[in-house]
Amino acid sequence: FRYPAYRNTSAFRQQYTLQEQLGKGHFASVYLCVEKNSGMRYAVKKFEKRTGPGEKSKVDGLQQEIAVLMGVSHPALVCLKDTFDEADGVYLVLELAAEGELFNYIVMKQKLTEAEARKVFVQLFQGIKYLHERNIVHRDIKPENILLTDKDLSVKLADFGLAKIIGEESFTTTLCGTPSYVAPEILESSTHRRYTRAIDVWSLGVVLYICLCGFPPFSDELYSAENPYTLSQQIKMGRFDYPSPYWDSVGDPALELIDRMLTVDVDSRITIDECLEHPWVTQAEINPNDST
Ligand code: ADP
Ligand code: MG
Repeated sequence: FRYPAYRNTSAFRQQYTLQEQLGKGHFASVYLCVEKNSGMRYAVKKFEKRTGPGEKSKVDGLQQEIAVLMGVSHPALVCLKDTFDEADGVYLVLELAAEGELFNYIVMKQKLTEAEARKVFVQLFQGIKYLHERNIVHRDIKPENILLTDKDLSVKLADFGLAKIIGEESFTTTLCGTPSYVAPEILESSTHRRYTRAIDVWSLGVVLYICLCGFPPFSDELYSAENPYTLSQQIKMGRFDYPSPYWDSVGDPALELIDRMLTVDVDSRITIDECLEHPWVTQAEINPNDST
């Protein structure tokens, strides 16, 4: 394999000091690192070089991630600073999102206020709009991939490992994404299964729901006599509700937006552009505390 985007040197450790691990995913480990010249902190995603049965898909995923990241520059997206191809692995030097995963923040706070959620979602909608305008579908939006850059709820979307530029040939049938966040059209076993921008809107809808109440709209844990549906059936039917008392204090515009995002029919689902114009989102302009 050749990676034209890489510097073919062993320079990573000359330029950067590797520090503690920040996180771990399917294919890579992420560490804090410091650029020696500038003292600037970055995240570095290290892909181990291994040989074995899983090798090909890992390398494919990596090339895809690099190609996508190289062309991306937006405040709500984790951007790529540098790449190194070393003997022990491939290193992607990324902008640091120093405050960790939105997931941990939700767990700590249990849920977000509407104003907090609005602040996060204006950024996410803008970041995804930027990607969608470039024909990139993220495909793996979930709280673990939404990273906080400060203590004021500035966020960046990470993990473009599954991102794929959509084009005529992208009518792929690969099943991917994380079950709870996956759009119904991905679960349908029809030949029409394909990745469109709409799958990101669905996943963002699931995340928005979780942010506002602290639990997911679709879950196998909801399985009971009254709700005899599996996770995948719930998703395919778009079957969820807003149980009291958790949703009592959340306003109707938020529920209306979630309803529009978690619409099973792809063609009637709200688009990212429409999300940015939705009354729940544009309230941000009226309230000075919500400016991003
Ligand atoms: P994977 O593709 O293996 O899921 P991710 O890019 O999602 O890898 O990274 C795994 C974890 O590492 C993230 O969930 C997060 O906790 C941490 N992480 C990733 N990128 C950054 C970053 N730029 N800044 C801070 N932490 C990060
Ligand atoms: Mg991830």
